[in-house]
Amino acid sequence: MKINIPGVKCPDCDAKLKATVEDLAKQRTVRCANGHAIALKDSGGGARTAQKSLGDLERTLKNFGK
Ligand SMILES: [Zn+2]
Repeated sequence: MKINIPGVKCPDCDAKLKATVEDLAKQRTVRCANGHAIALKDSGGGARTAQKSLGDLERTLKNFGK
């Protein structure tokens, strides 16, 4: 499940970034449209928690189909 985080902007040029909760949880480095590399920081581990919740939700939804 890919959930884009809204409102993430490049600190260098203010371009909108396409970062997912997974990217943030894994603290990946993403690039903006102008090629700046931004190291995502999951401060406090919120994204990890959110991603885990999403995983649980996904499993719950799958179980509905049984
Ligand atoms: Zn940029």
